[in-house]
Amino acid sequence: MKVLILGSGGREHALAWAAKRSGRVTEVVCAPGNGGMAHISRCVPVDLKSLGAMVRLAEAERPGLTIVGPELPLSLGVVDALAGRGLRAFGPTRAAAMLETSKGFAKRFLQRHKIPTANYAVCSTAAELEKAIDIFHPPIVVKADGLAAGKGVIICPSRHTALEAAQGLFSGVLLGAAEQQVVIEEFLEGDEISFLCLSDGKHVLPLAPAQDHKRVGEGDTGPNTGGMGAYSTDELLAPAMTEWILRHIAEPAVRGMAEEDTPFTGVLYCGLMMTARGPQVLEFNVRFGDPEAQAILPRLESDFVDVLEACIDGALTGTELRWMPGAAVCVVASSAGYPGGYRTGFAISGLGMAARVPGVEIFHSGTAQVAGQVVTAGGRVLGVTAASATLDEALTRAYEAMAEIQFEGMYYRRDIGYRAKGRKP
Ligand code: AMP
Repeated sequence: MKVLILGSGGREHALAWAAKRSGRVTEVVCAPGNGGMAHISRCVPVDLKSLGAMVRLAEAERPGLTIVGPELPLSLGVVDALAGRGLRAFGPTRAAAMLETSKGFAKRFLQRHKIPTANYAVCSTAAELEKAIDIFHPPIVVKADGLAAGKGVIICPSRHTALEAAQGLFSGVLLGAAEQQVVIEEFLEGDEISFLCLSDGKHVLPLAPAQDHKRVGEGDTGPNTGGMGAYSTDELLAPAMTEWILRHIAEPAVRGMAEEDTPFTGVLYCGLMMTARGPQVLEFNVRFGDPEAQAILPRLESDFVDVLEACIDGALTGTELRWMPGAAVCVVASSAGYPGGYRTGFAISGLGMAARVPGVEIFHSGTAQVAGQVVTAGGRVLGVTAASATLDEALTRAYEAMAEIQFEGMYYRRDIGYRAKGRKP
């Protein structure tokens, strides 16, 4: 079977790698792909902002399965468009993707279905927000309604700063485009967990849990990024907690979407805050996380393509996932300056030596091939991933591999997984 992967980051490299391991896959095509994906697949150009371009590519390639990596093509309705042309695609429809593409929709949906989440107000004007804000106690969380590539959440120490942030979102000063709706939310405290599950529209199957590190600096300090690393171990969630999250969050969400005639098929990523009152939903994403996918997929022993097809076919009941026991970690190497401005085009050396460390896979995020040389092409450049029997050993391997790699301005956090060290196995 030919598999088409849409996207160009570390997540898509991990998706291509997992698809290639399936016994049924004969060819992987990545669009547009990157310097690392070019080593394991055929890369073809495509504009992920253009629904027409993606459809034309899929019609020309006629893949047996298309896997959509990022949220933007899902928000444009690429799965609906491909399905309409008889092409099988893994991911939610445009309507079901609303769980991620509109935070206002997601919050009202959570409330309708009594799924635990922070108290909130959805406002369409600054005046409305000024009225609503009085009942919130600082710090106050202000969120853009639409997709904002991780830049749409502002935690404000006072009502005054919250109002300013909301005005910045409404006017377009903060994100470039004016927001029609802004969500204000109660500030939640606790540990964050990424709880990803598969859904076939009716049933839910959890993936191994993961935790990511969003801040650029060690000790989780500094500005938010797309993610500087992630790890997955079974110890992250006790079995009883997994059960609770399924019963009270993931299953009601999938049931609710089906009841509202927008059944959800694909990966439902529940971003959870583990608060004193129990798990609360911070956000839904409607696709694999990046870098969580790089830490979760190396642990998957089941045939990845079989599982994705079971989702499309509404046949998840009876499917069981087999996981490698132990842990996997992904440490991201980024360009100096990221998440602010950075330079690209620097040669990357040591990739071959790094890949020889046992249990290590190197997923490329922002790289390109120029005249046979892999060079930097983004803020996040590489995700050095290692799987092993224990988290400590996985970390040792990942950092051993990282020490082999060099490029100008390379930066990475040396404390990925540190929160797990205080956890009992
Ligand atoms: P979101 O895109 O909604 O997940 O928000 C991005 C990040 O902002 C989350 O991963 C949290 O670290 C933080 N965040 C979002 N909502 C809240 C909240 N209500 N309380 C505390 N932190 C939050």
